[in-house]
Amino acid sequence: ISSAPIRYISKYERIRGIILIIEDITQLRKLENVRRDFIANVSHELKTPITSIRGFVETLRSGEVQDENMQKRFLEIIDLESERLIRLVEDILTLSDLENNLELIQMEKIDVKETLNEIIAIMRQLASKKEITIRSNIEENMNLLYFTKDKFKQMMINLIDNAIKYTPKGGKVEVNAYQNKNQLQIEIKDTGIGIPKEDIPRLFERFYRVDKARSRSAGGTGLGLAIVKHILQLMNGKIKVESELGKGTSFILFIPITTN
Ligand code: ADP
Repeated sequence: ISSAPIRYISKYERIRGIILIIEDITQLRKLENVRRDFIANVSHELKTPITSIRGFVETLRSGEVQDENMQKRFLEIIDLESERLIRLVEDILTLSDLENNLELIQMEKIDVKETLNEIIAIMRQLASKKEITIRSNIEENMNLLYFTKDKFKQMMINLIDNAIKYTPKGGKVEVNAYQNKNQLQIEIKDTGIGIPKEDIPRLFERFYRVDKARSRSAGGTGLGLAIVKHILQLMNGKIKVESELGKGTSFILFIPITTN
């Protein structure tokens, strides 16, 4: 606006210019508020596991707990909470990297089928602990995807990890992928607890959880889907969520790919 020579701008256009500047400031304020909320949330999220760790360490040090099994249980909790703390810090760093678009420097050609199979093989080990089976149906000869492999993998891991986390023992997870014209479609489907309709629009917000206690006990950071959203945005992709309480959930990704 400031670079446009004023004398060529009509009275109305000048007024429009002023409105734009005001909107800009409002936008900045909004961003500032989002940042402030995020810092407040992060502080709270970091404090919770630290407080729990310190509490258990203090109890153990006091010598009040004589029972060996109980001592072991306390040490296990300390271990799990520290792991969660590490994951939380890693997720926060990932989000900050994604916001700065730093990761995009390393663009590469990704064989989607091969990469999905690598991820599924790793996730099967995690799933087997809950007797959950992962089935996959991935089309042959899809076009290569041009993106950062690490980030593509992280997005898929977050979604499959959630499918396992929120599916009771003995359930099923399915990963389907195919190419539809110049779009890659990947579906992650589970037979889990499902998500209430009213929560679906807020799922991708940082630290939003349907059930805080369940997320915490499953080791969740509350940032998994916020990371998915960011990565998908960098790919110009879209996501659709279909869910039925008590029956299961399906996340469907739509990613544009260049066809030859
Ligand atoms: P979290 O670390 O809590 O899993 P996410 O950002 O990955 O955080 O997910 C946000 C919330 O969305 C979860 O706490 C959970 O309530 C819900 N959710 C995500 N994936 C699923 C799923 N497959 N089935 C049921 N609920 C899910």
